[in-house]
Amino acid sequence: MSKIGYVDLSDEKFTEKALTDGEREKFLGGRGLNVYLLLKNSMPGVDPMSPENPLIFGAGMFSGFFGARYSVAAKSPLTSVLGESNAGGYFGPELMFSGYPHLVIKGKAEDPVYLWIHNGTVEFRDASHLWGMDSIETQEVLKEDLGQDVQIACIGQAGENLVKFACVRHGLKRSNGRTGIGAVMGSKSLKAVVVRGTEPFTPSNRRKVLDVLKKFYDQVTGTRLYPISSTYGTLYVYVLQHEIGGLSIRNHSKTYSPKAYDLEAETFLEKYKTRDVACRFCPVHCTNQHRAEVDIEGEELIEGEGPEWYLMGGFGPNLDNYDWDLILKGNDLCNRYGLDIGSSTALIGWLMELFEEGLIDKPTCDGIEMNWGNKKAVVDMLHKIAKREGIGDILAEGWQHAARKLGIDEDITEIPNEAVHAPNTKGLTIESCFDCRATSATALGEATSNRGYDHLRGRASLEYMGLPAEFFEDLIGEPVSNDISSWEGKVPLAKWSQDLLTIMDAVGICKFWSQFWGPNHLGFEEVSDIISAAFPLEVSPSELRETAERIWTVEKLFNVREGKYGVGYDMAPQLYYRPIPSGPRKGDRIDQEEYRERVIKYYEERNWDKDGIPTKSELKEVGLEEFQEIVVKNG
Ligand code: SF4
Repeated sequence: MSKIGYVDLSDEKFTEKALTDGEREKFLGGRGLNVYLLLKNSMPGVDPMSPENPLIFGAGMFSGFFGARYSVAAKSPLTSVLGESNAGGYFGPELMFSGYPHLVIKGKAEDPVYLWIHNGTVEFRDASHLWGMDSIETQEVLKEDLGQDVQIACIGQAGENLVKFACVRHGLKRSNGRTGIGAVMGSKSLKAVVVRGTEPFTPSNRRKVLDVLKKFYDQVTGTRLYPISSTYGTLYVYVLQHEIGGLSIRNHSKTYSPKAYDLEAETFLEKYKTRDVACRFCPVHCTNQHRAEVDIEGEELIEGEGPEWYLMGGFGPNLDNYDWDLILKGNDLCNRYGLDIGSSTALIGWLMELFEEGLIDKPTCDGIEMNWGNKKAVVDMLHKIAKREGIGDILAEGWQHAARKLGIDEDITEIPNEAVHAPNTKGLTIESCFDCRATSATALGEATSNRGYDHLRGRASLEYMGLPAEFFEDLIGEPVSNDISSWEGKVPLAKWSQDLLTIMDAVGICKFWSQFWGPNHLGFEEVSDIISAAFPLEVSPSELRETAERIWTVEKLFNVREGKYGVGYDMAPQLYYRPIPSGPRKGDRIDQEEYRERVIKYYEERNWDKDGIPTKSELKEVGLEEFQEIVVKNG
């Protein structure tokens, strides 16, 4: 039987509780159960860096037989709203096999520790010798000690130094990023969670599971996108994003430039790629490994995994760089230190713009010339942030703190979305290289996401694909315009996309296998078939939509409980209301008042009130009456 493990680091105590059928049915696992456990196990207003902020690991419901994803949740020290992040690799299935698919970790160890969890046994072990190591060295040492078949989630120096956008890291590149969960782990003096298990997954109908999985593997590998994803990984998205005028160039001052074509995925494949690798159980193998000689801080050989396209854009045109050496060096440093790539590249782009506009000077930047395209300056700044040196100490607190400290955007107070130079929602910057002001459903889906601006939870990818109206009639019951800037059908499409991504994170299926990636990929129906084949549970596709709604509402309740709600928190970044200056979508922008109306319509679709607070009737409908107090207090 699956169990939830409760860890108290202060007293080195471990207890467990069986996961009930009701919890499984209502929240599935992974992100779904994590956010429920977070809301249940945290107090309102909890200090994110305090021992009381729970750090919750959760394997996706299918981790262990189909999909490998796991999630980590905590209140975010960066935004003070929901912090939650999903990653692949090999950790999720091993966590499932260890017997504790969910771990709720509270307290703070007196000295650095790591948790060693193997087949129902939990040990608190000294990690003093690991403290100060980067995330890759840490895993190498632990594997040397405990065996090559253990799987590890850990922090690098950024997490130890409480950088507010530090990640939890696994393998060479898998990251639970964005919302500073690595800093929460560092605040608990927890260097790593190491898991190994042999508890087998026993499906309720073995034959049926094999048939269903074979069918869906064939479905994923039979799409037209498969040969492209399995060769380029996500790098092919770079050029598509550029061609729809959605690439950040010089911190969003432009979204299109002929120069951006100088940076090519083909060059990476020819010069640097060494092989494809995959997360466990994955037939797509979208991950590239590479080897490169770079010379930014002196000649060196870099070997690693990645980069993803958004790192390519983030360290590329976003910083006015068109060379692979900085991209691969930036990838290596972020992976080792455990720095979030989106936040790091957004912050450095922001700093460069301030410098170029004369709003900050060289002494403020510790003597570094933060000019566009200055590769050494970018690398120096990454070191400074991870080590909290000089201006890096200011930046490590996140851009809102830095903006106040540097006297920029001083008007940003309660609602950070209004900031001029750092496009964000709820305090979380856009992942630097995206610019979605030409795509209405995507802008709405990403801006209304519960952890802040978020392509992984709110992107309405299907709106880009020129699909016929009948396709959408079948999918969401109404036509959707295939003009990316039109609002026709876009509010329900934004909600549908959020719901789909929520379910994928809860069951642990990679988004690249799902309809996030294309219309012929996996959707609610396929997930429903897998559940009924593998578990003694029947959940129809429409019930899965309701489950997604429940999980999304729990996340919203967390933010409401923390007092972070209202239309202002769901407005698009200020930047999106200004016209795109050049390129194929020149002149496109989102009309602010029209957008505001769509947010209200979106709330109605979710059965929330005009401030975005879930109504009592919604709580009843999705079985969340236990949280009524939150809506009564805040409504
Ligand atoms: S497609 Fe998803 S699961 Fe497969 S290797 Fe890529 S990230 Fe991992």
